[in-house]
Amino acid sequence: MTVVTSAVPDQASDDFRSEVRAWCRENVPAQWRSAQTGASDEVFVAFQKDWFATLRGAGYAVPHWPKEWGGGMSVADQVVLYQELAAHDAPRLVLPFVSIHHAAATLLAAGTEAQRSRHLPAILDGEIWCQGFSEPGAGSDMAALSTAARRQGDHYVVNGQKLWASGALHADWCLLLARTDPDAPKRHGISYFLLDMTSPGVEVRPIRQATGESHFCEIFLNDVEIPVTQLVGPENEGWRVAQETLGAERGMTMLELAERLGHGGFPWLLDLCRRPGPDGERPLDDSRVADRLAALETEITGLRLLCAGFVADHSGRADASIVKLYYSELLQRVMDFGAEVGGLEVQTQLRKPLSSGWESGNWVLDFIGSWEWTIPGGTSEIQRTIIGERGLGLPREPKGA
Ligand SMILES: Cc1cc2nc3c(=O)[nH]c(=O)nc-3n(C[C@H](O)[C@H](O)[C@H](O)COP(=O)(O)OP(=O)(O)OC[C@H]3O[C@@H](n4cnc5c(N)ncnc54)[C@H](O)[C@@H]3O)c2cc1C
Repeated sequence: MTVVTSAVPDQASDDFRSEVRAWCRENVPAQWRSAQTGASDEVFVAFQKDWFATLRGAGYAVPHWPKEWGGGMSVADQVVLYQELAAHDAPRLVLPFVSIHHAAATLLAAGTEAQRSRHLPAILDGEIWCQGFSEPGAGSDMAALSTAARRQGDHYVVNGQKLWASGALHADWCLLLARTDPDAPKRHGISYFLLDMTSPGVEVRPIRQATGESHFCEIFLNDVEIPVTQLVGPENEGWRVAQETLGAERGMTMLELAERLGHGGFPWLLDLCRRPGPDGERPLDDSRVADRLAALETEITGLRLLCAGFVADHSGRADASIVKLYYSELLQRVMDFGAEVGGLEVQTQLRKPLSSGWESGNWVLDFIGSWEWTIPGGTSEIQRTIIGERGLGLPREPKGA
């Protein structure tokens, strides 16, 4: 991966920045934080769909997609867009996250023309997707999945259980992995499907998290029929297709997240450190706090350059893993420091605004939430193995590890 400093905005992006700034002043909903704190599921979903439609109207919803499908923004302009949205404290796109990143990347890389034409415009119209990869016995070892799909004429019959499917409660469609050849070696018997969540036999059960939300769900599949036309890629080659989905999760999503951390999360951390505590002292006046802040800011600058470089060139086999590992562990360090500096006051904030993503300014909840990112799309341990094996060419992990 090349770290391209030219991907960081310069004079040439000034016009675009002014345009986005003017748009944000007009369109970022006022008081959305208070309206989204303690909001019901219905209010959250309606708000997310509305905000997505507003962004879409301006051409800002899917800047990373190819031009012919409604995107085509340069990397430098994407950086500007994400910076301005963060600086204007715009809501995050939480609900359509899997749709615009994972589903779109998979369809673009491996979908048929009919699948793309059916779903990419629908995603722009608000179709919501979830990802059904993990199972009770198959997380890091995803190839151990046992959900079974048996071909019967022009459709497959699917039985099994998925776990930790983010946003499944509100999803219209699911990216589904199921085993089509039980006799083949683990990775060779898996196929990739587009599952209509309204199909008979699909049951979704939300899981309550430590933060009180129910962001992810179990999905039970009982004799669910999926038409053969909803297979992505050839039968039994789902493992290869799944790498496209995971690549999006580990890489492309990070550009926006890095800018949010740099232009949303970090300035709030600075504010927190400038505020006098009950003893009248400002944390910032302690040189150890100032040192930690300086170190974090340096790391965030590095992350932003890494992400911009990744979007410009992600040909290295471990590039996506490097970006994901660095972002997720840095996010934890920033939130950990916020929770520490915020003291007792932040320990008593028990609710955060929905639609705010991972840096809501509610430091303890954000700290708990920050652990989310080191797990999905492959845990930090798995990313380190990928970097070692594919990036550095080290000997492969022994079988059964
Ligand atoms: C916020 C969040 C959202 C998620 N969203 C989705 C989703 O939308 N769809 C979906 O399908 N899944 C989703 N997941 C599930 C996620 O992909 C799995 O949790 C993840 O792959 C880890 O699997 P596991 O939980 O079974 O843990 P395990 O695989 O059991 O791992 C347990 C621990 O062992 C370590 N470990 C395991 N194998 C190795 C190894 N070979 N070498 C070194 N260490 C190892 C892991 O790093 C981890 O620390 C989500 C998870 C989270 C936290």
